[in-house]
Amino acid sequence: MSRFTGRVAIVTGAASGIGKEIALRLAAEGGIPVIADLNLDAASKTAAEIKAKGGDAFAVAMNVTDEAQVEKGVADTMAKYGKIDILVSNAGIQIVKPIVDFPFADWKKLLSIHLDGAFLTTKACLKHMYAAKYGRVVYMGSVHSKEASKLKAPYVTAKHGLIGLSKVLAKEGAEFNVSSNVVCPGFVRTPLVEKQIPEQAAELKISEADVIKNVMLKDTIDGQFTTTDDVADAVLFYAAARNTVHSGQSAVVSHGWFMQ
Ligand code: NAD
Repeated sequence: MSRFTGRVAIVTGAASGIGKEIALRLAAEGGIPVIADLNLDAASKTAAEIKAKGGDAFAVAMNVTDEAQVEKGVADTMAKYGKIDILVSNAGIQIVKPIVDFPFADWKKLLSIHLDGAFLTTKACLKHMYAAKYGRVVYMGSVHSKEASKLKAPYVTAKHGLIGLSKVLAKEGAEFNVSSNVVCPGFVRTPLVEKQIPEQAAELKISEADVIKNVMLKDTIDGQFTTTDDVADAVLFYAAARNTVHSGQSAVVSHGWFMQ
């Protein structure tokens, strides 16, 4: 019997990067990840990869900003498995531009994916978690939940906002044995970050190597990228919590970039 045997976990944005690693790791410990992603093809591939290793997984098409799609993904999960034990609200994007040039439409798009997505998925899962008197909710924050960087106004705003949502849920959820935490990674080399390297180089008029060394990893203790495995370790720690002792807290996973 593993930590997650039989646990049903909706993981948003699990077709790629950090979310995918979390889904693979949950499945490796007996959990059943529901791969909820905008990209159904990639989500189905992740689910197939898990099944090929002998695990169980379920792919659902879900744009986390669309209430009807979120409700449907949660309803389909309930119909198939009868419960939702864990929510990892992870789907996210990045758009880099200085505030003075930031298109309002991009500001709204980014806030909507990170914040509306977290709210809508939480709300949809909570009624089932409250009824079951069990739930573990983990939000994907960032060092940018605590720190700021140039060019990332809506991202930093949204990631700080997730800490607020998580703290409220910690208070509201405690009587139902529902915990809430935020995991705050430093830079991880996923498609989201690979895309940013040339974009930041162009905006800051420096080389891509300088973006990595002097922007992304500048404040780490050892010049190292965080890995998807490092992030999954922290998410699984909170998702496996025996009780609400850690609820309301956040953990920075970043090779020392921003020490609390
Ligand atoms: P990624 O681009 O590899 O994966 C993001 C996934 O989210 C993709 O599969 C994408 O299809 C999905 N997605 C995007 N918009 C969606 C929507 N509206 N509805 C449903 N799914 C959607 O990115 P990643 O680096 O794995 O990022 C995952 C999370 O980790 C994000 O919240 C990101 O902000 C956070 N994060 C990443 C880093 C990093 O350095 N990579 C650091 C800190 C935090």
